Amino acid sequence: MSDTSKPEAAQHKQGLRAAIVPVTPFQQNCTLLWDPATMTGAVVDPGGDLEYIERAIAEVGMKPEKIVLTHGHIDHAGGAAELKERLGVPIEGPHEAERPLLEGLEEQGRAYGMQARAVTPNRWLSEGDTVAVAGHVFEVLHCPGHSPGSVVLVNRPQRFVLMGDVLFQGSIGRTDLPFGNHEALLKAIRTKVLPLGDEFAFICGHGPTSTIGHERQTNPFLVGDAGSSYA
Ligand SMILES: [Zn+2]
Ligand SMILES: [Zn+2]
Repeated sequence: MSDTSKPEAAQHKQGLRAAIVPVTPFQQNCTLLWDPATMTGAVVDPGGDLEYIERAIAEVGMKPEKIVLTHGHIDHAGGAAELKERLGVPIEGPHEAERPLLEGLEEQGRAYGMQARAVTPNRWLSEGDTVAVAGHVFEVLHCPGHSPGSVVLVNRPQRFVLMGDVLFQGSIGRTDLPFGNHEALLKAIRTKVLPLGDEFAFICGHGPTSTIGHERQTNPFLVGDAGSSYA
């Protein structure tokens, strides 16, 4: 059990590790999550560029057990059907309200000049469900607004969040696409995401990682009215 000669390795054994693979022309943060003790894990939001994702999987040396989708936009879900077949693993998420977007992935692809296939997850996720990644539990928050079936996944022991396109460093998800709803998005952020606590760190769909606290204090979409939003 003792592993004092390798403090870093011992430290990593406490939890999941993550690697980000930017994919598609949208530079979407496809995320590999794995437990270094078992080297099993998940691929989150494989939007495309599967050769990059598969190369990263091989470099890390992990064994994906599932694909997790935060929502149905092409940059997040466009490669899911193909990767599911290549890896032979199930897809979990997003919320079933995302069905029209997932069934319309080919049309989304035509609109953006990208290859994509429609996909149906093996498991839809609802508020309060849990998703296991290498035995680590993530709680599901249904956070519509950027898209109707967007989910945010929360691992409380490690204070870590998979944010999808709900909240970014310095911004929030766009709501001008079909099914977008700005008020719903702000409500989900205020009532579900911010109350998680300032110390929670997140990986989001685009751009750098951040923390809830940093966004609460500096995000132009959230500062100024946050005090009244917690009631
Ligand atoms: Zn999106
Ligand atoms: Zn995106």
